[in-house]
Amino acid sequence: MRTKLAAGNWKMNGLKAALSELGEMAAAASGPAEVLICPPVTLVAAAADAAEGLAIGGQDCHAKASGAHTGDVSAAMLADAGAEYVILGHSERRTDHDEHDEDVRAKCEAAWDAGLKVVLCVGESLEEREASNTLDIIGGQLAKSIPDGATGHNLVVAYEPIWAIGTGKVPTTDQIGEVHDFMRARLEKRFGEGVGRSVRLLYGGSVKPSNAGEIFAVSNVDGALVGGASLKAADFVPIIEALNASAG
Ligand code: PEP
Repeated sequence: MRTKLAAGNWKMNGLKAALSELGEMAAAASGPAEVLICPPVTLVAAAADAAEGLAIGGQDCHAKASGAHTGDVSAAMLADAGAEYVILGHSERRTDHDEHDEDVRAKCEAAWDAGLKVVLCVGESLEEREASNTLDIIGGQLAKSIPDGATGHNLVVAYEPIWAIGTGKVPTTDQIGEVHDFMRARLEKRFGEGVGRSVRLLYGGSVKPSNAGEIFAVSNVDGALVGGASLKAADFVPIIEALNASAG
């Protein structure tokens, strides 16, 4: 059985005052689903101290363990600050920082070396979907950005169609199911059935309290990576509750 995961990506949002949201989120984390918050890096240590019962993660890390990389953060630094996870390959990193699958793969290796679990993001653009290339794109990203050595413990994959992030547009449940079933099959083929079946697959892109229940009912959806609706407990707690309910 895969433990469901509700993951919040705060992106570049949140000053110290935002930590007050964590108490209610932690209270909702007492159900079967695991709850992860990835605040901006400035809040990782404070969030890890403040939020018992919540997992805390970073939103990116450097591929190198240390060195002359001004402004960057290593995986070991995140772990040292109390992070358990790191998001890698988010489409905003791929676009804003020109990150490619090879970069994501190197970062993933660095994260594993530091003992972090990785939430690795994949997803197609609108043009790619409209050209019926979605599965090719996702298959390529999985093959190129996941290093050998993946396990159900060190890897979570998040399917995040770029056109659904922050737009209010959500794929149909059939479209989500098609991609998640495909990702499961690809992971089983590459890593073997045992590992392939144990890696958790999240959906991300405009998840809200109003659509979470139907998304969590889709096959091979083990939770969500949530951006905007993870900033406030009033929005994120109902999503956690919907995931807990789907866990039976
Ligand atoms: C995200 O950026 O990972 C995301 C899913 O954002 P939103 O929920 O705001 O669409």
